[in-house]
Amino acid sequence: MNLSIDEATQKRLSGIRAIGESQIRPIGLDADRLGRPTPPDHEFFGLLLKVGLGRSRWAGENAEPSDGEASKESTPARPGSSRSMLCIAEEMSYWDRGVAVSFPGPGLGEPPLLSMGTLDQKRRFLGPFLQPERPRWGSFAMTEPGAGSDVAAIATSARKDGDHWILNGDKSFAANASRADWILVWATIDASQGREGHRAFIIERDTPGLGDFVIERKMGLKAYESTSFTLRDCRVPDENLIGGEEHYARRAGFKGAMRSFNATRPLVAVMAVGIGRAALDESLAFAREHDLLGLPRVRDRLERVRRGLRAARLLCWRAAWLADHSQPNIVEASMAKATAPTVALEAASLGMELLGEVGARGDHLIEKLFRDVKAMDIVEGTGQVQRIVMARHLVQLPRE
Ligand SMILES: Cc1cc2nc3c(=O)[nH]c(=O)nc-3n(C[C@H](O)[C@H](O)[C@H](O)COP(=O)(O)OP(=O)(O)OC[C@H]3O[C@@H](n4cnc5c(N)ncnc54)[C@H](O)[C@@H]3O)c2cc1C
Repeated sequence: MNLSIDEATQKRLSGIRAIGESQIRPIGLDADRLGRPTPPDHEFFGLLLKVGLGRSRWAGENAEPSDGEASKESTPARPGSSRSMLCIAEEMSYWDRGVAVSFPGPGLGEPPLLSMGTLDQKRRFLGPFLQPERPRWGSFAMTEPGAGSDVAAIATSARKDGDHWILNGDKSFAANASRADWILVWATIDASQGREGHRAFIIERDTPGLGDFVIERKMGLKAYESTSFTLRDCRVPDENLIGGEEHYARRAGFKGAMRSFNATRPLVAVMAVGIGRAALDESLAFAREHDLLGLPRVRDRLERVRRGLRAARLLCWRAAWLADHSQPNIVEASMAKATAPTVALEAASLGMELLGEVGARGDHLIEKLFRDVKAMDIVEGTGQVQRIVMARHLVQLPRE
């Protein structure tokens, strides 16, 4: 497994570090204090476009049909590869994970479009993100009030009506949904078919029937919006069914959803590593300042956190490397997702313990990281669900 990264990715990392301290962290602290997401017209988002961020990683139509990189063992992480994205995601989350998710771009809607979308759909929905003239967002909506971990239970319905589909249902906690150009929505054509009945649609902004946007209150990660919305007799053209009918005739619908989770789980996991690293740095700085580093038990616990974070990062990299080389990574993606948030929570908890009353006052970065990190065990499949997936795989039971 090649752990090196190419020059272009290194350059991007330097760029993020440069704005990390001066912009990303202060904006995250501000949103946390105000208790609301960074507004879409914030000048920071325009600045991100200028430095080449907020874009799609789709290579463009000339690069069809391959979306990945060459599958040589020796290939370093290149721009657009899963490993390159991991490096960037970890670094952005180190500075502020909430701000990182608020960045413009197609977001979690991009992996299903890349893996299942037709060329025309990539052109229409990812094309505008190649050289965006203004900050643009995409969104991904699977979760519903009655369907979280059990994604097979989604109740949002899709009914065929001529050359359109009519969608009805409620979605919750979708990142950046109210500011998005489009939302990738999962629905069912027949709930009794379970996963076989799932279909993914692109719902474009201003489609009649899409509305009731409510930005949820969250304990942490306040810089980005997690939004509930409804679909009421929403008419969606055939061309917006991701992959087209033919894709689902091959019974590939649910597999498509799972494949995109296998791509995004290591990404979410490595974001937890970024938060954990920030907590470790803050804890070390505090311990140094307050003469705690002379205590063997303090040193030992700090080092245990560092070791755990490095091990978690390697799990993320392994899962991403497999994805980059088009190899199955279900177990590795689950291992990364089950491990990283736990270690990151340990890092933030240790910080809170070391800080004592300073942390309890509620105005120290550690306290914010402690609130931010908890959700990392919940999003993209809870730690509990990952453990179920891995245990079933260990004893060779089929996935539920
Ligand atoms: C900050 C944040 C951002 C999010 N962003 C998005 C987004 O952009 N798009 C989107 O679609 N969704 C998003 N979500 C939703 C997220 O994916 C769900 O919260 C997650 O899948 C868990 O679902 P749930 O909250 O309904 O919990 P539930 O599924 O109700 O689970 C509750 C508890 O029961 C446990 N549990 C569930 N099933 C089992 C089982 N079979 N065996 C044992 N234990 C079980 C779980 O581990 C958990 O501890 C977001 C959530 C959060 C908190």
